[in-house]
Amino acid sequence: MTPTAPDARADGDLYETPPCPFCGAERRTSLYRSVKRVGEPLGEVRVSVSQCDDCGFVYNAPRVREDVLESYYATSPLASGQVFRDESAQGYYPQLNARRARHLAGVLRSHPRGRLLDVGCGVGGFLDAMKAELPGGWELYGLEPSRNAHRQSTDKGYAVANALLGSDGMPAGSFDAISMISVLEHTTDPMAALERIRELLAPHGVVFVEVPNVLWPELSLSGFFSLEHIQHFSPHALTRAFRSCGWDQVLNDPGDHGHALRLLGSADLTGWGCRERSEFGEDRDRAAAAVLAYARQENAFVDMLNRRVRDVLSDWSERGLRAAVYGAGFHTLALSSHVDIQGACSWILDGDPKKQGTVFMGLPVHAPEEIPGLGIQGVLVSSQRFQEEIVRRIRSIAGSDVEIAVCYDDPRNTFLAGP
Ligand SMILES: [Zn+2]
Repeated sequence: MTPTAPDARADGDLYETPPCPFCGAERRTSLYRSVKRVGEPLGEVRVSVSQCDDCGFVYNAPRVREDVLESYYATSPLASGQVFRDESAQGYYPQLNARRARHLAGVLRSHPRGRLLDVGCGVGGFLDAMKAELPGGWELYGLEPSRNAHRQSTDKGYAVANALLGSDGMPAGSFDAISMISVLEHTTDPMAALERIRELLAPHGVVFVEVPNVLWPELSLSGFFSLEHIQHFSPHALTRAFRSCGWDQVLNDPGDHGHALRLLGSADLTGWGCRERSEFGEDRDRAAAAVLAYARQENAFVDMLNRRVRDVLSDWSERGLRAAVYGAGFHTLALSSHVDIQGACSWILDGDPKKQGTVFMGLPVHAPEEIPGLGIQGVLVSSQRFQEEIVRRIRSIAGSDVEIAVCYDDPRNTFLAGP
């Protein structure tokens, strides 16, 4: 571990070095550094993860400057929120949203009516799941800054404001429950975001926040640590943030096994019929150990994966197979910095209609439905989270006429540390 001086600044035009977003301290210890390919317009960026020497919070420092990050979200086809999400009932996200909704609704159901706001509601997937779980007296609202996602969620009939938290213009105290899933880790000022939620929430309302759990970093090719995820919460750190907003009573989702951190908080969970509580002790040493273990294993993991993909592609090349890679995103970009994807594959397949018809890494992007028409004989599935879903999709389109190669033996088995 290398203590980093407070004024150690990287390239001022791209990076900034913020103080700890929780306690404002400038002293920090570097835990992880890497260079990531993130596509145009940024190309390669440095990702640096540090831990506050005062309070133990883990956050990106230095990090890509806020205005650069905003324009990246607005323009990069690889930025989160731009990605096609399979909404079919058996798809990854609907299943995930159903599990989240069962946890939150398990508490809210004690009240026949109320008002729920989902912050960063995207295309309304979590609202769909809550609608299925909650009594009919509940009104569902959303807040979503992306214009495209906002349109899709309002098309479903939800009342969604097209704004960022903080410039939402909503009246104080107007919601009984507020959910915020996969948002807080992206915010440059997480305390300001939680403070705004506190204002919008009725005094005894319930907040539900989900973030990646830094105690369980998942090994991945494009990296658990990225330019987008700039705050890294442990159970203790998120509980501490909740307490500073007056939500002293906290409940964790026992069904989640810790991979994501799913906390319910309230000033009074008992009023919601909830008798259980979760307690988390100080975990700054475990958080540091988890990040350092991740840093040690990431390179070996990436090397193993690249070797495996090289073997598959060279076999296909020798046999003259007409090959494609599935996935016009980060995962393929990361593979291509070590493996000659373009040399072995003539097409990229992707289920996202926005990507189809474009060119990615110099290769034309096609819909998977075009596999038979293009005469494709081999498909390399370049995805970790969606590997199994994509394999099923290819099989349903091309049957056994196509060879499928995957990157992971078991993509769910790539979590490292843990409680
Ligand atoms: Zn701190």
